[in-house]
Amino acid sequence: MTSMAVAIGCSANITPEDVKVADYKDGKECAVSLTFDDSMKEHYTIVAPELEKRGFRGTFWMVGAWMPAVAEADTTHFTWEEAKEMSDNGHEMSNHTWSHPYMTMLSDEDLYNEIKKNDDAILANIGKPSTTFCFPYNAFNEKVIAAAMEGRVGARLKEFWLGGQNSPKEYLTKTVEDALASGSWIAGMTHGINYGYDCYSDPTEFTDFLDYVKSLEDRIWVGTFRDVAAYTSVAKDVTLSVTPADKGITVVPQTGLDKALYETALTMEVAVGGKKIKAEQDGKALEVSYKNDKAYFSFCPFGGAISIR
Ligand SMILES: [Zn+2]
Repeated sequence: MTSMAVAIGCSANITPEDVKVADYKDGKECAVSLTFDDSMKEHYTIVAPELEKRGFRGTFWMVGAWMPAVAEADTTHFTWEEAKEMSDNGHEMSNHTWSHPYMTMLSDEDLYNEIKKNDDAILANIGKPSTTFCFPYNAFNEKVIAAAMEGRVGARLKEFWLGGQNSPKEYLTKTVEDALASGSWIAGMTHGINYGYDCYSDPTEFTDFLDYVKSLEDRIWVGTFRDVAAYTSVAKDVTLSVTPADKGITVVPQTGLDKALYETALTMEVAVGGKKIKAEQDGKALEVSYKNDKAYFSFCPFGGAISIR
């Protein structure tokens, strides 16, 4: 009886303290990026279809020099045409250098060329720029990172091994459980499924892991490396100017990051304590969902004022 009276008397009664940008999209507890190295043919024939079956999209780190012009020329790597098809299906096709060198051992000129030549090939063949990066042999230092990060939203600096003998089920389960507990973003590293130095002795271990992550989808954001990098960077950078308004608040987001490069929506988390809210940005109604005692809606961090009532 008492709580009902409060709800009627106060309408939504949202205060500035009630709003924050969610750590991850849709208020998920952690993020997992499934990333695949070295332009392996199986990424096209097995991985992408298995991801798509589950509604996931992956990130594929390509080595341009290893990719054949025609499929018949090399059955162990996918072609640029196949890469374009993967991109068109929503996967991220990104830069892993032109010829897979130890980048820390290159001259300045070679370092530049290894990055640039692959960027140019990606743009020419796929029509979209590479905005993330992965270092061959995971070998990098400050100089290499600075060179690779120019014009990009992120680079894979830390990964968990999602591949055959290097990742028993217990290790993978614990890796995901730890990410959930700490609210972390983790990125998997996978090469071949049936061939290659770290392939699976039983390929169902790979699809079993995808099923395991899928079963936790309401808590885990499975996003491409680019999408999670853009989201987390903008979420960290954005400031919210919150002012009281009639029956609610007005929130003005502001970020200095480049809209073209960091294009992303963010998720607003509002502590509503069981009440319903209405949200609008630039006069357009935003779709609100509820989980536990919180309301969530997606907004544009590069857009104008948001009204929450
Ligand atoms: Zn590699």
